[in-house]
Amino acid sequence: MKQIIANFKMNGTVEDTKEYMIEFLSKVDQNKAEITLCLPYTSLAVGRYFLSDSNIKLGAQNLSDEEEGKFTGEINGKMLVSAGVQSVIVGHSERRTKFKENSKIINKKIKIALKNRLNVILCVGESLTEKNTLKTLETIKNQLEEALKGLYENELERVTIAYEPIWAIGSGKSATIKEIEYAVKAIRKVLSDDFSPKAGKETQVLYGGSITNKNVQNIMRAKEINGILVGGACLDAGGFASLINLS
Ligand code: PEP
Repeated sequence: MKQIIANFKMNGTVEDTKEYMIEFLSKVDQNKAEITLCLPYTSLAVGRYFLSDSNIKLGAQNLSDEEEGKFTGEINGKMLVSAGVQSVIVGHSERRTKFKENSKIINKKIKIALKNRLNVILCVGESLTEKNTLKTLETIKNQLEEALKGLYENELERVTIAYEPIWAIGSGKSATIKEIEYAVKAIRKVLSDDFSPKAGKETQVLYGGSITNKNVQNIMRAKEINGILVGGACLDAGGFASLINLS
């Protein structure tokens, strides 16, 4: 079954999430895909309550690169697990650019998440300048190798890679099928060369960037992808349920 992951970003109060869950669960076909909702920290408890009887997984959007201690405002892997979280997004381009998260931090976060038995959704993708200067593959390779440094091959079973070109995120301009297939093939080659052909073949690779009800069917059928990561289009409960039902 393909994966559909939703990134709510900084949207939704506890009350909003409650209303969202009631509508979404009444409309979505849960058997269409393996669905994960990555909610804001403050909505995790209400998300856990509503999703407990469903096939839908609870996800978070970030975790600390420290394990415990004097880090005011931070949330660690152990806390996420105790809040019922199964998966966590790491390396999203908004965190790389707006919060200055470098590859060392991303690598630390991945290791902490895996140590806590969380599934990792690792985002990689090039900027518009990198695309225009033909540096897409080089960027993806560097991001992957730095993020996955020191991981054992069996740990990759709990890592999903999301190819998210920065220029496609929230821009209304999704990558073409050709561009997606080109990048996904390159991601699989890096995994195959650095880990094993099995890792290259079996690691889950998703696409994210301006997915809507209009392009979802086409994108889901791109070669060698295992699903999608959705941002803006997940925010309307009814709209997201129909996007999943259409996929
Ligand atoms: C994202 O931010 O991960 C994303 C895919 O956003 P959008 O769907 O809005 O482009």
